Amino acid sequence: MSDAVMPTYARIDLAFERGEGPYLYTAENRRYLDFAGGIAVNSLGHSHPKLVAALEEQGRKLWHVSNLYRITGGETLAERLVANSFADKVFFTNSGTEALEGAIKLARKYHSHNGNPQKYRIITCDSAFHGRTMTALSAAGNAKHLDGFGPQTPGFDHVAFENLNELRAAIGDETAAIMVEPIQGEGGIRAASMDFLKDLRTVCDEFGLLLIFDEVQCGNGRTGKLFAHEWADIEPDVLATAKGLGGGFPMGAFMATNKAAAGMVPGTHGSTYGGNPLAMAIGNAVLDVLLEDGFMESVISISDYTRTKLENLVANNPAIFEEVRGAGLMLGLKCRVPNTDVIAAMREGGLLSVGAADNVIRLLPPLVIERSHVDEAIAILEDVCKGMSQAA
Ligand SMILES: *Cc1c(COP(=O)(O)O)cnc(C)c1O
Repeated sequence: MSDAVMPTYARIDLAFERGEGPYLYTAENRRYLDFAGGIAVNSLGHSHPKLVAALEEQGRKLWHVSNLYRITGGETLAERLVANSFADKVFFTNSGTEALEGAIKLARKYHSHNGNPQKYRIITCDSAFHGRTMTALSAAGNAKHLDGFGPQTPGFDHVAFENLNELRAAIGDETAAIMVEPIQGEGGIRAASMDFLKDLRTVCDEFGLLLIFDEVQCGNGRTGKLFAHEWADIEPDVLATAKGLGGGFPMGAFMATNKAAAGMVPGTHGSTYGGNPLAMAIGNAVLDVLLEDGFMESVISISDYTRTKLENLVANNPAIFEEVRGAGLMLGLKCRVPNTDVIAAMREGGLLSVGAADNVIRLLPPLVIERSHVDEAIAILEDVCKGMSQAA
């Protein structure tokens, strides 16, 4: 591995040359079944023909012009997101953490615009992950991620995930918003209950706070709805997303109702690259697939199949696994042995996954997997369990 790359990642010594659907291939042509999905990014698998076509077509026409001009592809994508969600307004970013930054700025601006500039604090949850900018790190409050980086961005109050009493007690005169991942990803695939999500809406309405959902990981069809909060039958005021939205092209968005976005007038926010024509062409191609008739139903059906198989695996291997977590194709295996050992053994067997906090293995396959792929993954997992039981 090259010394020239800043060593902020403990990288696996493995490089891929190409991908096709749910598979990745090394230069030596070793095939891996990719249930890491670039950390929930490759929502349509690798080299999806529609995404490749969009990339090639737009690549020949126009890549970037800046937001000094109209970007018609972005207008189309924003209108489609608005038509299919709670939101009235969309701002495109390059990443998830920038989408959160935007959402946080919007929430503060909303209150200052309405004559309450003292309301700037945002309540967030323990074991949250919102990205790696200083403000996103301060929002999540993970001491390990903050260590050595100096003063935090002020204005975040942390409460236990899913603890409504603690959350209510944290609300004060300066509170502007509550910001939550409907399903915590990095924190260990912990899905908030539908009741908790509904309660968040009620509390926000009661105190005049904005409800911000971080759907960077759980959004974009991952749970069988365009956005995960839809399962709870409630709407946020603001939502940040990214990852699956670009299917592998770096892009994100924050979205809000007209009411919440009232302060975001010309000059209040910007991005040089955000929403450029190339990103927008690919985003529209991703959405073409996600919004196809029957697509979400097929995600739900393959999710149910996968979950049942994983529940069986866990039941048959109680010394290795404790439980299955998550929703849709955002699944977690809580381990009784070190998750890193299981992940390494899976990789040896040709199945890629990704770790999360709380000793969890994340399974984030492309939304287009078929039963045969799930069966293949389960067979590898069974072999891994057999190997580990024999070793024990
Ligand atoms: C990945 C992630 C982020 C950060 O996204 P980046 O694109 O890495 O900046 C923020 N929130 C959640 C929930 C995520 O999973």
